[in-house]
Amino acid sequence: MAEFDLIAAIRARSRHARDDVRLGIGDDAALLQPAPGMQLVACTDTLNAGVHFPAATVPQAIGWKALAVNLSDLAAMGAEPAWALLALSLPQADAAFVEALADGLARLAAQHGVALVGGDTTRGPLGLTVTALGQVPPGQALTRGGACAGDHVLVTGTLGDAAAALVLWQAGAQVLPQTDAQRALRQRLDYPQPRVAAGLALRGLASACIDISDGLLADLEHVCTASGVGAEVELEALPLSADLRASLPLAQARGLALAGGDDYELCFTVAPARLDAAQVALRASGIAARVIGRVVAAPGVRVFDAQGAPCLPTRAGYEHFA
Ligand code: ADP
Ligand code: MG
Repeated sequence: MAEFDLIAAIRARSRHARDDVRLGIGDDAALLQPAPGMQLVACTDTLNAGVHFPAATVPQAIGWKALAVNLSDLAAMGAEPAWALLALSLPQADAAFVEALADGLARLAAQHGVALVGGDTTRGPLGLTVTALGQVPPGQALTRGGACAGDHVLVTGTLGDAAAALVLWQAGAQVLPQTDAQRALRQRLDYPQPRVAAGLALRGLASACIDISDGLLADLEHVCTASGVGAEVELEALPLSADLRASLPLAQARGLALAGGDDYELCFTVAPARLDAAQVALRASGIAARVIGRVVAAPGVRVFDAQGAPCLPTRAGYEHFA
């Protein structure tokens, strides 16, 4: 299959149309018409085979996840996603593989009203770089920089599921998950749900926000550094799914919740006076969140158990060049 046939296959599967795409796939660049007065929010993230996903991941999941990690970044900014571009590197022109990958990406794009408006297709080791663009009213973007001492620290959803799926996948010789709980964990690894609705709900309510891609501790540390504060996390408050509890010992589950990667939940801070409003807005968005700690003046992130004794996590999160 030739490059142009591959592009045609991707284009045919990316059916979500938006009025504000004046020119999409097919010309030298896309022409997009942002809504009047809105700020553009832009991000890009790469997934490389063997680094960001096991090489044996099914192509639908690879396509889904490449977009999901970018929509997660837009969610963390409180942006409404609109457009995406896909730079795809492939070892060979495998039509069935590209069609399945494009199907996975298109399924998530349709869920969030995102139009795929361009990209690039080249030969090389399997890798996908998605660029996502969204919009936010001026002054309403959420950033890492606004956390204040005394704010609550919250996370959406549950933590550690995707990291547990990876541990189970790597530990077991089996390629396929065995139990319902293991299947549910693998779903979290392969098809993360970007918390776009939560990001939108938190506009004007969260003081700082980040999406958790490298592990809670590492990403909360980024918020603390950007905000010039520290944080205290309560070990027992970490939200763990029933699937995770059923699959691994509690201590290991908590370790993954603290330092495993690939959660794609939001970690955010809220001033005490806004906590109720934030919880109401989140409930309306359909995404639950839980208080897991407090912002403090002293720099650094520390974890405490129920007795108030400090816990030492073994690993601070995924770092590419460590
Ligand atoms: P050029 O050589 O001018 O960069 P290309 O042949 O690379 O053009 O691409 C032709 C059209 O197809 C462009 O509109 C480009 O954005 C789009 N395109 C190429 N690869 C992809 C892809 N993987 N996903 C989506 N659109 C793509
Ligand atoms: Mg090109």
